Amino acid sequence: MTTPPCIALIVAAGRGTRFGARPPDDAPKQYLPLGGASVLRRAAEAFAGAPGIDGVRVVIHGDDRALYERAVAGLGLMAPVTGGATRRDSVRRGLESLAAAPPATVLIHDAARPLADRALIARVIAALETSDGAVPALPVADSLKLARGGIVTGTVPRDGVYRAQTPQGFRFAAILDAHRRAEAAAAAGHDFTDDAAIAEHAGIEVALVPGAEDNVKITTDADLARAARLLAAGAEYRTGHGLDVHAFDPARAGPLRLCGVDVPAEHGLAGHSDADAGLHALTDALLGALAAGDIGEHFPPSDPAWKGADSALFLSHAARLVAAAGGRIVHVDVTIVCEAPKVGPHRAHMRRRIAEILGLDPARVSVKATTTERLGALGRGEGIAAEALATVALPPVAAEGTR
Ligand code: MG
Repeated sequence: MTTPPCIALIVAAGRGTRFGARPPDDAPKQYLPLGGASVLRRAAEAFAGAPGIDGVRVVIHGDDRALYERAVAGLGLMAPVTGGATRRDSVRRGLESLAAAPPATVLIHDAARPLADRALIARVIAALETSDGAVPALPVADSLKLARGGIVTGTVPRDGVYRAQTPQGFRFAAILDAHRRAEAAAAAGHDFTDDAAIAEHAGIEVALVPGAEDNVKITTDADLARAARLLAAGAEYRTGHGLDVHAFDPARAGPLRLCGVDVPAEHGLAGHSDADAGLHALTDALLGALAAGDIGEHFPPSDPAWKGADSALFLSHAARLVAAAGGRIVHVDVTIVCEAPKVGPHRAHMRRRIAEILGLDPARVSVKATTTERLGALGRGEGIAAEALATVALPPVAAEGTR
């Protein structure tokens, strides 16, 4: 059975006015760092490549374009759209942007919830098979008090009271229609606090599915600190290793391609693709961290499609697999082994190029070089070898191979 197309719409246009401490560049909360990646990137990563999700579109503030591009580099998202003055406005614009090629269903998610897990997303998608709308929610455990001036004036029965989270899922046509019809009520002052409220207002039946305690909404500094603790506690760290060797090809004129950079040399390296031993070793290291086979399995040398290919393709493929597993590349370390050419003058450029391909800060990318003291084939300058290590943080579910 094929599942109908589903788009995740992530709302990231807010200014975060309830947030206390601001970073030096005054970035809105969805762009604040959380365990080495921005809050928005983590929210987007949860959906990009999740089973049942066919595309991810983020609704951004018009001022945040550069922040956005940096935050989601390498995730392969749909082009963003610009939001409006209110959350409701922003969601409406996001929905309208999809109307020309409407998906069957849409999951609407707040960028301020960076820890939505794959199981939660799957529950919402599954509920849409039998409902027009589905909302993850948790029962309220604390007693609910009414108060005025710091004095309790009453107790609200909590029986049947739930805390609604996102992603909230809907049949696309139904929620677009509900948003269009909500305009008049909103103009008359009706405050819709979430999309389920808009669906309810339109008479759409909304099913409850179990939410997740860890799916915290980041509104305050304390929420951000809690999310960081949850992330650190839940991640599993894997280290993958890669090794590759290419001989010089006297028939291939220089320059040679190494770590994504053209390095002046008399001869290029022999190989089916661009023969970039550095990127091949690094691709294998990432695949190794995922226990996902090797580069030859993903890109067979027998396939003419990869003849002369830019090895950045192979590396970005491996990075997408990490993202699809809900993982994050923490650090990569490449060692080049050769007598010549000299790597030193190109090292900074190589780090920047690898960081660009992987969507990482260059501070997380190491490139080193050594020789074999003229011993062996490498020492005679017959070729170049590269070794790489990649450290990847994976959520526990992905680490168990249930993805
Ligand atoms: Mg190779």
